Amino acid sequence: MSDGAAGGHNGVERRGVMFVLSSPSGAGKTTLSRMLVKEAAGLQMSVSATTRPMRPGEVEGRDYFFVDRAKFDQMVAAGEFLEWANVFDNCYGTPRAPVEAALASGRDVLFDIDWQGTQQLRSHAPNDVVSVFVLPPSVQALEHRLHTRAQDSHDVIQGRMKKAGDEMSHYDAYDYIVVNDNVGIAFESVKAILRAEQLKRERQIGIDAFVRDMRQQLEG
Ligand code: 5GP
Repeated sequence: MSDGAAGGHNGVERRGVMFVLSSPSGAGKTTLSRMLVKEAAGLQMSVSATTRPMRPGEVEGRDYFFVDRAKFDQMVAAGEFLEWANVFDNCYGTPRAPVEAALASGRDVLFDIDWQGTQQLRSHAPNDVVSVFVLPPSVQALEHRLHTRAQDSHDVIQGRMKKAGDEMSHYDAYDYIVVNDNVGIAFESVKAILRAEQLKRERQIGIDAFVRDMRQQLEG
């Protein structure tokens, strides 16, 4: 893997990062996720299954796998989810197989999931999960974004505003906090976090052998 990790050119593989972005709806996390997947080589988005109805502009298999409740329950029973949770009265779950395949082949995986899912992932893989909580710069900005997005009814937006405070109360379970005032700056911050985490020594499998070899050569 030639990604600038030590030994990128000499076979020192990296252990994949499970990179979680969470935030209240409307804080800009979906935009940040899309930008990140576009720019970060080897980063794969985890596409969740959900029982909520498809919104205009959403694409089956890109944004979500849209399933009915019976199918969702069947997937839960079959152990097909790495984690799942009830959010806004709908069920959301992370399909296990694509994540395991990506990590096994040395890729990083990006998760757009809530705090409940983040906790579950962390309990499965405490060393691999890196979590970022994205905050809006103000309540006014959050409300404005939810209205501009205009994909939900007035009642749904009011419901989301109410729940935003509750979601925010879980900020202290996250490794990093990014306030999304300016999307370009927030993106640079999220990218920098991912980069630094990729370069952590303990993620660089084979680094011991790599350094040992170099030292042997240097010491003759
Ligand atoms: P939305 O309906 O706006 O797409 O998402 C609502 C919330 O569900 C967001 O906070 C999103 O991060 C969360 N979510 C989406 N997919 C999953 C998932 O697979 N698991 C969990 N736990 N939360 C999810």
